[in-house]
Amino acid sequence: MKKHNYSAGPCILPQSVFEMASKAVLNFNDSDLSLLEISHRSKDFVAVMDRARSLALEHLGLEGKGYQALFLQGGASLQFLMVAYNLLEKKAAYLNTGTWANNALKEAKAFGEVIEVATSKDAGFNYIPKGFSIPTDVDYFHCTSNNTIVGTQLKSFPTTQVPMVCDMSSDIFSRVIDFSMFDLIYAGAQKNMGPAGTTLVVIKEEMLGKVTRYIPSMLNYKIQIEKESMYNTPAVFPVYVSMLTLEWLKDNGGIAAIEKINNKKAALVYAEIDNNELFKGFVANKEDRSTMNATFNLVDESMKDTFEGLVKEAGINGLNGHRSVGGYRASMYNALPLESVQVLVDVMQHLKSKG
Ligand SMILES: *Cc1c(COP(=O)(O)O)cnc(C)c1O
Repeated sequence: MKKHNYSAGPCILPQSVFEMASKAVLNFNDSDLSLLEISHRSKDFVAVMDRARSLALEHLGLEGKGYQALFLQGGASLQFLMVAYNLLEKKAAYLNTGTWANNALKEAKAFGEVIEVATSKDAGFNYIPKGFSIPTDVDYFHCTSNNTIVGTQLKSFPTTQVPMVCDMSSDIFSRVIDFSMFDLIYAGAQKNMGPAGTTLVVIKEEMLGKVTRYIPSMLNYKIQIEKESMYNTPAVFPVYVSMLTLEWLKDNGGIAAIEKINNKKAALVYAEIDNNELFKGFVANKEDRSTMNATFNLVDESMKDTFEGLVKEAGINGLNGHRSVGGYRASMYNALPLESVQVLVDVMQHLKSKG
């Protein structure tokens, strides 16, 4: 039987996507060839890349607004430096809300002055700093929309005159946002869009060409745009599966429809964390809680084995917290059904009845 998969990434994808992807590995578009053995320059694959790029812009409501979507390699982690390589001439401002945000900030320092506008490091990143100000003389402001490891999420974004860059790796396509407030968005595919191996970058073209340094071709957004995301051989399988997932999202009503389900899933699990005295949430302020990654601990560590036994018995996978924080983390990405969340809540209640 299929597991209830709470894996934080790589993570659950729609079952129908797994089936279509398997089929394409054996016989792609009835060509009697595998998707994996054809040229990325073939008509059939170019159509996949074009479709994936246009679906991404369509979901984000950014078609015809001067944006380009790219599917690059190197993960979100390569974007930490690629953003700075392409956009940072003198100074940039970063909001430091977690391990990933901190890594982004660290990489940018190699390219110019980096101002940390605020951080929640003092409390293990368990809240979102508010009321900070963003300098107006910076090349861009960088933030991380969802902090996958600790489970906090920016519910609103600052208004600023400077260009805004956002790492949306773990909540892209999960909630309605006015995406046009961002000048660059990036997201590793493996959290909410596809398998590991490709990274979506959505960029407002007018942002480019402003820095004076030489940018190596592979790391140059302008060149990647000119080459239509095929400067070199793209990650054909991850791009194809991302395309299938974006089609699935469209068939299911798009971001607005999935957001409603995501809110229900989050409400269900957080209600149990709050009402079941055996558990406590990790995030300090309720308003900062992520709808994607709910983090919690057992109040009494001696119940660990009993709880984890019940979790396993129920067919739940991937509930362990990130190795840096421990505890539990329920990652509830788009493809995780509401029923899986009910199974987890039932297990948490079952533990209470035993305790
Ligand atoms: C997982 C994650 C990353 C790192 O992604 P890679 O593709 O493994 O480099 C970066 N940022 C956020 C918010 C993440 O959740």
